[in-house]
Amino acid sequence: MALTSGLGVRKRIFWQLTVFALGFLVPLLYWFPIRNLDLLIPMDVCPSATMALLKDNFTGGLQLGNRPDVLTCTSWKAPIIWHGTFNPDVAQQKARQQNLTIGLTVFAIGRYLGKYLERFLESAERHFMVGQRVVYYVFTEQPDAVPHVALGPHRQLRVEFVAREQRWQDVSMARMHTLHQALGRRLGRETQFVLCMDVDQHFIGPFGPEVLAESVAQLHAWHYHWPRWLLPFERDARSAAALAPHEGDFYYHAAVFGGSVAALRRLTAHCALGLRQDRARGLEALWHDESHLNKFFWLHKPAKVLSPEFCWSPDIGRRAEIRHPRLLWAPKEYAEVRD
Ligand code: UDP
Ligand code: MN
Repeated sequence: MALTSGLGVRKRIFWQLTVFALGFLVPLLYWFPIRNLDLLIPMDVCPSATMALLKDNFTGGLQLGNRPDVLTCTSWKAPIIWHGTFNPDVAQQKARQQNLTIGLTVFAIGRYLGKYLERFLESAERHFMVGQRVVYYVFTEQPDAVPHVALGPHRQLRVEFVAREQRWQDVSMARMHTLHQALGRRLGRETQFVLCMDVDQHFIGPFGPEVLAESVAQLHAWHYHWPRWLLPFERDARSAAALAPHEGDFYYHAAVFGGSVAALRRLTAHCALGLRQDRARGLEALWHDESHLNKFFWLHKPAKVLSPEFCWSPDIGRRAEIRHPRLLWAPKEYAEVRD
C-alpha cells in the first residue's frame, strides 16, 4: 500500500514537472526558435589595428568599424563584407575604370530549370552587377527550355549544353569539372571575374562589384555563429575533402563562390580532382562539391569573404545583424525537383 502510494506521488510529481517545463518551453521556443540558439554564441570582432589596414581593389578603404556587431575580417586579414562597410558607388566606379566583363554561371538541370531559372535570371537583371558588362552562362541539358529573359544593355546570355547526370549529387558535383573546362574556353576569354551560383535562389538586393576579389567565398547562413569544431566539414580522413578536427576557418556555402578566371581555374581543378579521387576510392564527401570547396578555401584562403547577407535563408527568420539581404534561398522542395 505504502509502496503504491509512493509510486503514485512520484508519478504525480513527474507529470507536474513535465507540464511545468512544457509550459515554459513552448512559449520560449515560439518566441526564440531553436535555430536562433546560435545567436547566443557571440561572434569574434575584428581587431581595430587590422581594420584600419584593410583595403580592397574595388571598394577603396572599407569602413569595417561601421559594423561593430559582427566579425568584419579574417585572421589572414581578408575583409568580410557586410552591409554598411563599403561604398557601392566607389565599387561601381572602380569596376568601370577597369572595363570589366563579369561572368555569372548557373546550372539548371532537370526540373531545376523550370522551377528556378526564370526568377533567378529576372532578379539578376534587376540586382546583379547593374551598370557593368555581364555575361550569364546557363549550363543545361535542355537548351531549348531556357526562358527568354529581356536583358539590359551590355548584358548577354549564353547557353552551354551539358550531359545530364542521373543522381542529383552527381549533377551538383559535376559542376566543378564543367566549370573548369568552360573557364578554359570562351567564358575564361571573355570575362575577368566570375561568380558561380546555385539556381535555387533569387536576388532581392544589389549584388555589385563590391563582392569582387581574386577569390571570394560565401559564409553559410546556417553556420556563421557556430564554433569551428561543430562545422559540417568532411571528417573522414580517407576523403580528399577531409579536414582534421582543429582545421577549418569558416563553413562556406557552395551556392556562391567566385574570383578571377585564373583563381577559379585553380579552384575548380582542385575540387574536380578531389571529387575524382574520392569516387575512385568509393567515397562521397558529406556535402559533395561543397566539402571539396571548403577544403580548397582552407588550403588557399579566400581574398574576400561575403557575409551571410549576400546569401540568406529566409527560413532562419529576421535577425538584426542581417540588415540587407541580397540573395534569398528558395524553400527546399527536394521532393519536387530531385529524383
Ligand atoms: N542542380 C541542378 N539539377 C539537379 C541538381 C542540382 O540544376 O538535379 C544544380 C542547381 O543549380 C542547384 C545546384 O546544382 O542549385 C546545387 O543543388 P541544390 O541546390 O539542390 O543543393 P543544396 O543547395 O540544397 O545543397
Ligand atoms: Mn542550392
